[in-house]
Amino acid sequence: MHSAIAESMRVPAVDRVSLSQSDGGWQQAMRGAITDVDTLFDLLALPERYREPARRTAAGFGLRVPRGYVARMRRGDIDDPLLRQVLPIDAENDVVPGFDIDAVGDSDSALGDGVLHKYHGRALLVTTGACAVHCRYCFRRHFDYASQHAGARQGHAALDHIAADTSIREVILSGGDPLSLSNQRLAVIGAGLDDISHVTRLRIHTRTAVVLPERIDDAFVDWVAGRPQQCVIVIHANHAQELDEAVAQRMGRLREAGATLLNQAVLLRRVNDDAETLAALSERLFSIGVMPYYLHMLDRVAGTAHFEVDEAAAKQLMTDLAGRLPGYLVPRLARENAGEQAKQVLGHSAEATGL
Ligand SMILES: *Cc1c(COP(=O)(O)O)cnc(C)c1O
Ligand code: SF4
Repeated sequence: MHSAIAESMRVPAVDRVSLSQSDGGWQQAMRGAITDVDTLFDLLALPERYREPARRTAAGFGLRVPRGYVARMRRGDIDDPLLRQVLPIDAENDVVPGFDIDAVGDSDSALGDGVLHKYHGRALLVTTGACAVHCRYCFRRHFDYASQHAGARQGHAALDHIAADTSIREVILSGGDPLSLSNQRLAVIGAGLDDISHVTRLRIHTRTAVVLPERIDDAFVDWVAGRPQQCVIVIHANHAQELDEAVAQRMGRLREAGATLLNQAVLLRRVNDDAETLAALSERLFSIGVMPYYLHMLDRVAGTAHFEVDEAAAKQLMTDLAGRLPGYLVPRLARENAGEQAKQVLGHSAEATGL
């Protein structure tokens, strides 16, 4: 596991340049993502009447979807669960009371150095503004990345903050998506963390691993294998159809590298809001070595109201799911509330269980 290439990452940044050569393939796939509404419509032969609304809405929060992800969609099907997650539609422009710009209160916890320290023992490092995909339900579609991500300049301040607080046991790389950073940049962050002995766990939250599995390249796998911290990789998959053979193969490599693999999904109306779909997701995840972790209630962000599943329906779904699956494949239904100590875990439907 501690391969030569992993050892070489402990030398100063300037000597690591050669490693970034392996970034070529996935960075090209990332740059080749579809950002043009017409290209998407033509590729998938989508019904014409949705084209103009898509163009209009994409002028705000833009369309972005990797070609490999589009290849997993059904042609001509406007209701495809993968397409629904990325297609701009008119409903995003509706103003709905209760759906605001900063739904999770991140603006209050940001310390200006790219660290969000909301929960005990865990510090979240906002590593980058870029994502390989633009998810229409994204809780950060209005987030001010430009001012808050820990770029090269802020990296030191972020690491100083973590080094100075011994209560921080786990560092969470989030964003944006930390896997849109180069391997070279990840190596620099990793090297900084390796000097902080109270940090024993490194967690990476990524949707890129799902939508652009090429990103899990040899250099990244070696970097994971070489971490002195326990490495937890939380992928963000919402539907079994997203988890094709390419994703499965990369998950296998990460497991071999010693990472613990978890999944965090978002409960989305007409994407995955039925027990059969959620059960299929859990079973597919397990078959590729990933344990279900959270099923998140939608953060109530402006432009996402059409994705919401109400709490009573969500709890009923959990009851149905628990009736179909072994307990270890049932994710925790959770909601994030501004100002609270932890994410709120919601129970099953009391009515359905007779309690
Ligand atoms: C979600 C989140 C975490 C991690 O929460 P877990 O319940 O441990 O998964 C940590 N920090 C912030 C700011 C978060 O939003
Ligand atoms: S990958 Fe994550 S952060 Fe990026 S747009 Fe999608 S949900 Fe938002």
